[in-house]
Amino acid sequence: MSNSRQTVDLLIDAQWVVPVRPSKVSLKNHSVAVVANRIVAIMPTTDAHKTFVADKHIVLGNHVLIPGLINLHTHAAMSLMRGQADDSPLMRWLSDHIWPTETRHISEQFVYDGTLLACAEMLRAGITFANDMYFFPGAAIRAFIKSGMRAAIGIIVIYLPTAYASDAQNYLDKGLAIRDEYKHETKLSFCLAPDAPYTVNDKSLTQILTYAEQLNIPIHIHLHETLDELRQSQTQYSMRPIERLQKLGMIGPGLLAVHCVHMEKHEIALFARQGCHVVHCPSSNMKLASGIAPIAELLANGVNVGLGTDGAASNNRLDIFSEMRLAALLGKVATGQASALPAHQVLEMATINSAKALGLEDQTGSISVGKYADLVAVDFSAIELLPCYDPISHLVYVAGRENVSHVWVDGKLLVDQGKLNTIDRQEIQGIANYWQNRISPS
Ligand SMILES: [Zn+2]
Repeated sequence: MSNSRQTVDLLIDAQWVVPVRPSKVSLKNHSVAVVANRIVAIMPTTDAHKTFVADKHIVLGNHVLIPGLINLHTHAAMSLMRGQADDSPLMRWLSDHIWPTETRHISEQFVYDGTLLACAEMLRAGITFANDMYFFPGAAIRAFIKSGMRAAIGIIVIYLPTAYASDAQNYLDKGLAIRDEYKHETKLSFCLAPDAPYTVNDKSLTQILTYAEQLNIPIHIHLHETLDELRQSQTQYSMRPIERLQKLGMIGPGLLAVHCVHMEKHEIALFARQGCHVVHCPSSNMKLASGIAPIAELLANGVNVGLGTDGAASNNRLDIFSEMRLAALLGKVATGQASALPAHQVLEMATINSAKALGLEDQTGSISVGKYADLVAVDFSAIELLPCYDPISHLVYVAGRENVSHVWVDGKLLVDQGKLNTIDRQEIQGIANYWQNRISPS
């Protein structure tokens, strides 16, 4: 052994490395080397041992190492409302349950506590990056920072007055001030987040577009989720929401449109032409009976599609493994084609496609030299995962969040053998007990 081995901070040997880029590749007995927060090498383990000496060397003999999963659409703090009002349609669910609870309870503390609970759940599920949209984004930021996760924070705008803000202008002003305060945090990025076309007027949408262009950040919005939304838009504006956004100039590469369940052919073509991004939330769409989004058609037309869980109140899991499996299965049901949405494509939706939607595909979303060391080890030794002919197929169809063993964000180990390093288990239990009692005293 020569003395010329290069020192790295972290070396992970894995039975398999699935880098996502290039596509469809599973590297057997490979290692990933990390210096500070970046990946510096991916190579066969035998070569890595000759090349590097590591401060921390982790051997994962039964594991598949994948890029950190990205949750491209969530309302993290809604974890406190998980299971509070199941089995009702979207508008009734919102107006009879979710909005009244929010009116009564939301505060800085609610959002910090709910977001911390969500971070604990997401990290243990191998999610390293979440695109969040909720009230009191400053409180959400503090929870994300504590957890060590990467986050895109939505500057939420909605006409409904809440304890956080009084009107659309007030929401926008507060959100922009919070962005100014935290814009230098390296693990944070920002989106303008008008809630939906039916909760934000044209004047506010135009203003939001101006800020998005000036600040060069994406616009994150719920769009074409239900037939009710389309009917209401016809009544009020005599056009579909996408047409309305197009007239306002919002249809472009900075648009991250969540749900897109009801899309006509010309709208899919428009999205492809304009480089819009779509967030598919299969569990939420099924649970609220919104319908089945035409994901295979969007992808076939060249639209970039990522995956999200939506909030825990409409899912009720913050679990991208279950979204991957459902997206693949639902894609086949929707098209009548078993070849639709194959495993490798769904894994790309959960990683690189979502990174691309947030404009960060050069930084995260695959195991590539130069990118952030956002890495997840999935333990394939469980009986339920045997045998394994194809690790990529297993990741989508067989493995679950319960198989996640290690999670690194920015080169830091945040989950070690399923145990959270940054969040205290007892604190999370206390938070859940406290809010459950406040929301629904027993
Ligand atoms: Zn949502």
